[in-house]
Amino acid sequence: MPPRTEVDIGGLDTNVELLPMLPAPHAPLFSFDNSYARLPERFFARVVPAPVAEPRVVRVNDSLARLLGADPERLAGPDGAEVLAGNRVPENAEPIAQAYAGFQFGAWVPQLGDGRAILLGEVVGRDGMRRDVQLKGSGRTPFSRNGDGRAGLGPVLREYVVSEAMAALGIPTTRALAAVTTGERIFRETPLPGAVLTRVAQSHIRVGTFQFFAGRRDVEGVRLLAEHVIARHYPEAAAADRPALAMLDAVVGRQAELIARWQLVGFIHGVMNTDNTSVAGETIDYGPCAFMDHYHPDTVYSSIDHGGRYAYVNQPSIALWNLSGLANALLPVIADDPEAAVEPATEVIHSFPERFVRAYEAGLGRKLGLAESREDDAELGRELLAKMAENRADFTLTFRRLSELGDEPSEADAKVSSLFEDAAAFDAWASQWRQRLRSESRGFEERRADMRAVSPAFIPRNHRVEEVIVAAMTRGDFGPFETLMEVLASPYDEQPERAEYQAPPRPEEVVRETFCGT
Ligand code: AMP
Ligand code: MG
Repeated sequence: MPPRTEVDIGGLDTNVELLPMLPAPHAPLFSFDNSYARLPERFFARVVPAPVAEPRVVRVNDSLARLLGADPERLAGPDGAEVLAGNRVPENAEPIAQAYAGFQFGAWVPQLGDGRAILLGEVVGRDGMRRDVQLKGSGRTPFSRNGDGRAGLGPVLREYVVSEAMAALGIPTTRALAAVTTGERIFRETPLPGAVLTRVAQSHIRVGTFQFFAGRRDVEGVRLLAEHVIARHYPEAAAADRPALAMLDAVVGRQAELIARWQLVGFIHGVMNTDNTSVAGETIDYGPCAFMDHYHPDTVYSSIDHGGRYAYVNQPSIALWNLSGLANALLPVIADDPEAAVEPATEVIHSFPERFVRAYEAGLGRKLGLAESREDDAELGRELLAKMAENRADFTLTFRRLSELGDEPSEADAKVSSLFEDAAAFDAWASQWRQRLRSESRGFEERRADMRAVSPAFIPRNHRVEEVIVAAMTRGDFGPFETLMEVLASPYDEQPERAEYQAPPRPEEVVRETFCGT
């Protein structure tokens, strides 16, 4: 019998459309490659996230998900929610809590570690960059001490908003990949809704990670960690005579740049402990952080920073202090004889002030609209800042509106001077500024564009962050969160339809203190 070549399919409609290939339901959510988990066991504790009652995805960061090669729609769906809440460990993840130590408010704590965070693993993104994917608020670990391992919705939203705002400003930072609510209450002073943040970072290795091993006289641990950090963040240091010294130098450089960027947008971290200082040079561990409204160098928001150790003005010197802690920890691996390492390491640490000032003054010059740099420019900038402080002028608006002013005084000047309690204080400064502008060849339009590119119109103002948190916590309303995220995605654009987000708080909206993430 000849083989049948046709199949009788009866009366069915044969005009079918083929569907594009769907990813297999069990395809891994992330392509993990976990280099930290390959380090010796004393670097971390293997621990799985504790499941939660009712995971609900609040937001997924689509573009960041795609950068990581993950499908944002799947992350936002039931499968993703289970993973982002810690209810299911995704394929090829090797969940660990990292060990670290730290100086908290100057006091040595030999063991801190991830008490409420779990690193799922590392992903090499579409840009070739390796990044950590970490759950924060995912349950207890061997490092939890008396903590519950959980995070509240308020701090999770704050970190989401502020870290993504920093990223949009172009400032090195950890990122927020997702936020989920847990359907459970956590107990602080009052019961609060629980949440988990999925955080992405170049790595979560801190100055305090080096100090963990140094504090135990575990020189081999310091050496292995330095090798890991060099391979991961500073590969060029591997070829240096003294790789650990070259790494220290590179970390100092990145921190100098980072702190300059903070100062230039009025960002106050709030808890610059060595365990909150990333060796990759990213802003990390957003707790009681805030952007300044009116400028004052002594500004402190953190409710736990009684002495003002981490006030705005102190951030550069605290960074230097933290870096000297890193240098100390590295001494035995910089040279076989630690004594011989002291001098070169000290020299590297001493380069911080100059590197910071150079980055800061270059940035300040751009904020003043100066294309060339002259000797007295920094002084001109400092005079403006002094007048802003005396007159409670809004930091962000002063610099943003300065970009609107032309070569000659006009009515437009009032847009800036009205930010000062004594408008004449600004006018006097402005005439000096215009004198300086006369020696520049750039025209108004070009200057304005350049100034706008460094002085944002939109920052995550504290009262707006608070508004987002209150709406979410009291009404389950995430509308204000979504709107704020949209505004902050383009901080340097004008967005006239969102002008109200530029405004400083009205007196009744002022937030005087921010609280730690715990
Ligand atoms: P942070 O203030 O977030 O930088 O945390 C400082 C240290 O306290 C870290 O070791 C955290 O893991 C730990 N920690 C903070 N909150 C909690 C918590 N709710 N449960 C367990 N550990 C925590
Ligand atoms: Mg921390």
